[in-house]
Amino acid sequence: VVALAGARKAFGDNEVLRGVSLSVDPGEVVAVIGPSGGGKSTLLRCLTLLETLDAGSLSYGELSVARDEGGKTRYVKGPELKRAREHFGLVFQNYNLFPHMTVMQNITDAPVRVQKRQRAEVELEAQALVAKMGLEGCENKVPCQLSGGQQQRVSIARALAMNPEVLYFDEPTSALDPELTAEVLRVIKALAAENMTMVIVTHEMGFAREVADRVLFMDGGVIVEEGPAEQVIDHPREARTRAFLSHLS
Ligand code: ATP
Ligand code: MG
Repeated sequence: VVALAGARKAFGDNEVLRGVSLSVDPGEVVAVIGPSGGGKSTLLRCLTLLETLDAGSLSYGELSVARDEGGKTRYVKGPELKRAREHFGLVFQNYNLFPHMTVMQNITDAPVRVQKRQRAEVELEAQALVAKMGLEGCENKVPCQLSGGQQQRVSIARALAMNPEVLYFDEPTSALDPELTAEVLRVIKALAAENMTMVIVTHEMGFAREVADRVLFMDGGVIVEEGPAEQVIDHPREARTRAFLSHLS
């Protein structure tokens, strides 16, 4: 679905990504864990074209979005770049819903306005997503009338409405109380059970262990260790991974 190779990104002289390679297969769920400042959000921002790579390459399916040309990355332009964006959805920590729009409008806006799909058909799909996210009765509410957990489930529905091949999450529950966290994790688990391809940055180790096929531990701009959850979380090989995990418990 997605392949990133040799990704490098610096802000000034702060090298935030120092050669990260990652590919995700269809139906795979990848959890990214690691200490603050390790580059996890920057990795997601590069994967979702919110930041550009300095070096390295990125492709979605057959579409080569960014090529490495002698240590410098060149991106495709215009319509091809637009097409690249149709491959993924992104869910942030802080929901980022349109505050003046209802739940239904938040979900249907992009498919209608950006993808130019028929409103009636989009609304039918949106209704199904509302049900799937457990948001019945909230269709005509605006975000400030909803709990944080409900808002986050709306933002997941909004991302799914674009029919992405891969869904990225950046700490989807870190702004939520434990109770609300559980309901958001439950819908992500349900998506995993339906073989939705997902990359999830999370501090919830129990959740990562349960839902992820593969766990990446990122620190200092590199992937220090990766493997099945039982290996990386329960039996880490690297001292840095062990140190990080022991701080959490
Ligand atoms: P956290 O767990 O706290 O969310 P993270 O692993 O997501 O951390 P990043 O947000 O990717 O880490 O940040 C990595 C480094 O990049 C930090 O030193 C941060 O200050 C720097 N950084 C991130 N974005 C920018 C930016 N737009 N401009 C300058 N520096 C940035
Ligand atoms: Mg972050």
